Amino acid sequence: MSGPVASRVDARARVFGVLAESGAVSRADLARRTRLAASTVSAVITELQAAGLVTEPGAGGDPRPPGAVGRPPVLVAMHRNAGVAIGLDFGKRHVRVVVSDLAHQVLAERHDELDADLPATAAIAHAARLVDEVLAEANAEQRDVVGVGMGLPGPVHGPTGELGDSTILPGWVGVRAADAMSDALGRTVEVENDANLGALSEWMWGAGRGAENMAYLKVATGIGAGFIIGGRPYTGTSGTAGEIGHTVIDPSGQVCRCGNRGCLETVAGSAAVLAAVRGTLGADVAVGDVIASALDGHPGSARAIADAGAAIGTAVATLCNLFNPERIVVGGDLAAAGSLLVEPLREAVRRGAVRSAAEDVTIVEGTLGERAEVLGAVALVLRHGADLLRRSDTVAARRV
Ligand SMILES: [Zn+2]
Repeated sequence: MSGPVASRVDARARVFGVLAESGAVSRADLARRTRLAASTVSAVITELQAAGLVTEPGAGGDPRPPGAVGRPPVLVAMHRNAGVAIGLDFGKRHVRVVVSDLAHQVLAERHDELDADLPATAAIAHAARLVDEVLAEANAEQRDVVGVGMGLPGPVHGPTGELGDSTILPGWVGVRAADAMSDALGRTVEVENDANLGALSEWMWGAGRGAENMAYLKVATGIGAGFIIGGRPYTGTSGTAGEIGHTVIDPSGQVCRCGNRGCLETVAGSAAVLAAVRGTLGADVAVGDVIASALDGHPGSARAIADAGAAIGTAVATLCNLFNPERIVVGGDLAAAGSLLVEPLREAVRRGAVRSAAEDVTIVEGTLGERAEVLGAVALVLRHGADLLRRSDTVAARRV
């Protein structure tokens, strides 16, 4: 349904959806983005305010471009009574948990190291404890939670939330991750590939803002890509789009954990970078140490990172030829190396992509750092505005 003659229920859901996706937004923007008449938007906001779901947060800065004249618009945002969203992110050796209100304010977060080969059940139990901790710190309860999103490093099959064989988490293969985490928390959990979540968060809040067509690259133990196409997340037919780490770079190279030979990941993933510096830095270093020594001017470390950047750029050049994005955001552990990684990557794209595709694309470092994926898990929840309305109604009815 479109145009100003939407039913009140539909109008409420649309306003709620835009608020959940945007954080704080002016009434004029709400009218434009919901395609509702200004008077309808005002009436809906009054209704939502009366229900305790929406508030005017007051002086939160001017959202308009610099140089705008006149009084800044009054912004509208979700009230804390509308509930909270939880984001979870599992990596090869970590778990992160964030609780956020629906106005996009992070209320509490935790980050713990995990053993790399921990079975899924143990990792899930650990995460469930962290969820209890962040909720307590945020002064919220389980029943305030309107949604939970979770990121995993590997191809996630949409319908089951099951991880594919090429995940870097051996303890999770064949586990129906969405079901297992849902059982642990006693509520539905939506699971998504971590690079797809990085794309979502950098697009909503970070270096991808305003892009219609972008790719996010997560460069860590694994290398994955997440896409925004035509202003919407794109995950493919069953959710496994973007496995760029398994692009064959060297057909006679090392055997990859996916079973192929010479995948990008075997040349440019964290393990490859660590292997490259073993002779100079020793066997006991972590990726952070390599980056620190490279930034410190150690030529061998800088070279290992530059080589990874160039190899990634070769695969990204093909990505640019096929998909012609306007922006590529580079994140993941290795992105902390900044221009040491990104400049050789750009150079390889300039060399390897057709000229028009190379000229169209801007390649930038992510701005959300190691929190990109867990914030994307929160964003996954916030994108279900209309569903949230029903759940927020329940939360608010109790809290008001
Ligand atoms: Zn592979």
